Amino acid sequence: MQLIFEKSRPGRCGFSITRCDVGQEAKIPSPYLRKKECLWPEVSELDVVRHFTQLSQRNFSVDTNIYPLGSCTMKYNPKFTEKAAGIRGFADLHPLLPQLDHSLVQGALEVLYHMDRLLSEITGMDHFTLQPLAGAHGELTGVMLMAAYHRSKGNKKTHIIIPDAAHGTNPASAAIAGYDIVTIPTDKKGVLDLEALKKHVNSQTAGLMLTCPNTLGLFDSDVDKIAAIIHDVDGLVYYDGANLNAMMGRARPGDLGFDIVHVNLHKTFATPHGGGGPGSGPVGVKEHLSRFLPISRVIKARNGSYALDYDYPDSIGYIASFYGNFGVILKAYAYILMLGKEGLKEASEHAVLNANYIMEKLKAYYDLPFDRRCMHECVFSASRQEKKGVHAVDIAKFLIDQGIHPPTIYFPLIVKEALMIEPTETESKAELDILAQALIAAAQLADDDPARFKDLPKTMPISRPDEVKAAKDIRCNFFA
Ligand SMILES: *Cc1c(COP(=O)(O)O)cnc(C)c1O
Repeated sequence: MQLIFEKSRPGRCGFSITRCDVGQEAKIPSPYLRKKECLWPEVSELDVVRHFTQLSQRNFSVDTNIYPLGSCTMKYNPKFTEKAAGIRGFADLHPLLPQLDHSLVQGALEVLYHMDRLLSEITGMDHFTLQPLAGAHGELTGVMLMAAYHRSKGNKKTHIIIPDAAHGTNPASAAIAGYDIVTIPTDKKGVLDLEALKKHVNSQTAGLMLTCPNTLGLFDSDVDKIAAIIHDVDGLVYYDGANLNAMMGRARPGDLGFDIVHVNLHKTFATPHGGGGPGSGPVGVKEHLSRFLPISRVIKARNGSYALDYDYPDSIGYIASFYGNFGVILKAYAYILMLGKEGLKEASEHAVLNANYIMEKLKAYYDLPFDRRCMHECVFSASRQEKKGVHAVDIAKFLIDQGIHPPTIYFPLIVKEALMIEPTETESKAELDILAQALIAAAQLADDDPARFKDLPKTMPISRPDEVKAAKDIRCNFFA
């Protein structure tokens, strides 16, 4: 197979579009051609097996222990999804195989086409691109869509509004797309301060990015009012869907007034992530934005066959090579089909129930800055323990010794000494009790003998890194 890369050309909306297709030979510039033969390592099969087996044994994962890392949705990834992704007809596909060959790629295109429809149904949007390779990449794609919309209307927009509770990727994505960031504080109820929002919204507002429920695990019941305020100035409302696990099957961002959403397939729809695998951050839009979506897009012809369509002159262009992380999309597709409509709803209900169970169990031991019903995660503060010299990071180290992955700490930034716990729906009550018991033991030790935290963890092959040195000198050996 030979490749042709067409020269980048500016798309109508200002972003460059590169098109790649099957055809003539690719001309690799001579500076990039290898001069000498490549030397591969020479190792036996046994060496390789031992190396990777030992690496796998060092891995801390959802398959080995509870992993309540807040905002990351480290739920159990059922093995049937791996089976689906391992089917040879999928796993052995090459992205440049001819589209119309029914024996080869029509099935893969059908999966992409149906995934677009399924995600649209789940989120209440009209069309999706499956190409973004992670949540943050979805955000950047979403903000580029916003920019394309405003350019097409001749709107002069300079800033994007983001709450102070947002994940750091939100302002980063908006800034990379060329916007200024306007930060809105969180109010006493733990949601966006509506009065502050009204003061900052003006004709320069391109849009707002909102995580819902937010990173405090709280649902903002003013979300429709927020959307209306932004729409009044012809801004667009972006839904950071990293927390969709709290409401899938129960509420749809599209019905709440959002124009653009991204979904973290690797969080909500069960794929190993973080150190364990790649992500996928599909972006969905309402009809009026669909002409800006990245190319290629999968279409279904009248005769029932599927094809990749590049003919969208207003598109923001390519944002990833080929068609996204197909293996991740496939696993999420298998997961959605296996759970079905009722199963997805039940998953989110159990995620919320489990988080509230943990919250109630720990309330007496840790400060709870926003004491109200939470969604799929709850955020405590170790400020009470801090008075004894025990910080959130010390509690995290204590948990490592109990075989428990620590919760997210020091995030969201607006909570001092934050401990952000997301148990997910896949943990049993027995496991939740073990987690709660370990955190209660940490709180009691902080009361009785705070000095004991200083050299934790004790069960790891390496001792605690010098964090000050690590922060000040990036070249330093962490574990020296
Ligand atoms: C995880 C997360 C993101 C970013 O997603 P990645 O796939 O890690 O890039 C964005 N927002 C929130 C609230 C998140 O939890």
